[in-house]
Amino acid sequence: MNTIAHWIDGKPATGDSSRTAPVWNPATGSEQARVLLAEPSDVDTAVASARAAFETWSQTSLTQRTRIMFRLRELLTRHEDELGRLVAAEHGKVVDDARGEIVRGREVVEYACGITSALQGGYSDQVSGGVDTFSLRQPLGVVAGITPFNFPVMVPLWMHPIAIACGNTFVLKPSERDPSAANLIAELYAEAGLPEGVFNVVHGDKTAVDTLLDHSGVDAVSFVGSTPIAQHVHERATASGKRVQALGGAKNHAVVLPDADVEFAADHLTAGAFGSAGQRCMAVSVAVAVGDAADALVEVLADKAREVQVGPGQDSGNDMGPVITGQARDRVASFVASGIEQGARAVVDGRGTRVEGHEEGFFIGPSLLDHVTPQMDVYREEVFGPLLVVVRAGDLDEALEIVNGNPYGNGTAIFTNDGEAARRFQRGVSVGMVGVNVPIPVPNSHYSFGGWKDSLFGDTHIHGPEGVAFYTRAKVVTSRWPRVGRSVEAAFNFPSHS
Ligand code: NAD
Repeated sequence: MNTIAHWIDGKPATGDSSRTAPVWNPATGSEQARVLLAEPSDVDTAVASARAAFETWSQTSLTQRTRIMFRLRELLTRHEDELGRLVAAEHGKVVDDARGEIVRGREVVEYACGITSALQGGYSDQVSGGVDTFSLRQPLGVVAGITPFNFPVMVPLWMHPIAIACGNTFVLKPSERDPSAANLIAELYAEAGLPEGVFNVVHGDKTAVDTLLDHSGVDAVSFVGSTPIAQHVHERATASGKRVQALGGAKNHAVVLPDADVEFAADHLTAGAFGSAGQRCMAVSVAVAVGDAADALVEVLADKAREVQVGPGQDSGNDMGPVITGQARDRVASFVASGIEQGARAVVDGRGTRVEGHEEGFFIGPSLLDHVTPQMDVYREEVFGPLLVVVRAGDLDEALEIVNGNPYGNGTAIFTNDGEAARRFQRGVSVGMVGVNVPIPVPNSHYSFGGWKDSLFGDTHIHGPEGVAFYTRAKVVTSRWPRVGRSVEAAFNFPSHS
């Protein structure tokens, strides 16, 4: 059976790793590979490689860095199908959706191709007599990226192209559940001409993560994953003096007002809730049906949920694949059961779904629960599976109260034809990314991505301008070039006039 190795100093490495973890094929339920789990000494080797590479990489011209990003972009395009199939095989999502994540991730590389403008500083001429001031941003050093299973290509691409284009070197610790894409990306970087040690991959579990968080050779940590781990990463890495951004979990609400086009809203809610089997941090997991919208909306949602084609991600024609593990499937099923127990009405129950020929696969069909209340566990917890719950609200104010009362604040959406209501919602909602008639409002790569409240620990959002700010630190230079031979009076006091 294939064992997936680390990528350190420009080549595959096994180091001191003797522990391994299974990589499942979620569509068949069988083990398809093993992945190495790094020991602290393997992390040390990767960080040492990145530190050594930083000395030269940080001095490389912006032109050279940009050229490598342009080449990487081309290689990502050329290998889109191969990468998409790799992701579908290990994650389970349908190939077209996997290709979609590669395209969205590639957009961040496109932003990194313009790093020269993103890094532009300011210059003020003659701030004092013969004195000029200018600002610039310099790289931090070694950045660690720790990423989740649900977007094995896109989420790491939110981080490393920007960090590297800014002059940092990088150690990626991808999810151990779908690790192969990270190694292919490492090969593409090498083919693009990135020097050895600038981009490293260590596979592993908590041991690898905690070693990175404590490591004196790591300057900053970008994390994306569930809220409890995001909180742990933020606390532990800031305690060891690092800059940290830790993006956490989500419970994304889509508010549907009575004036909305029900068919349109239901179509988008269905795709937003069940696409990628609901395993997206921006998946719609709660529909807040306002006033008269509720009955009609639930009826159309139920029809659409029943039409979702469930099957292996590699077979074309399927809308939704399995979830990542058998444990994840059982967890989703237990939330459907607890919702019903606590008083919700099961309009569609996906627990019995079987896919012919794939009886051992980790499949669970779409479920729709109505009359869910904010007190129920199924509402309070992030389920991260194909389950959409409907909460009913009397008016927009009540809907806003529900959304703002939830501890998560990643994404939200409103479906309406009323501009004033949409504007009131977009201004009043305590959520980082807002869609108006757009169910999954993932910002374009020229903007930054991030939530509020328990969906983000740290100050900056990821990629785009906030990514550049996160991966660099500011320097301000004040300079004077007196003419040779002409003296400039030195003052003991701070000048009271200039
Ligand atoms: P996870 O938190 O289990 O794992 C994320 C990373 O942390 C992995 O690399 C994993 O190896 C590591 N990890 C897991 N347990 C750890 C521990 N105890 N100590 C140290 N490291 C640990 O998340 P996941 O299940 O891979 O991904 C799904 C979660 O990620 C969901 O909660 C989803 O909402 C979230 N997510 C958020 C965003 C966002 O932008 N906010 C994007 C994608 C996914």
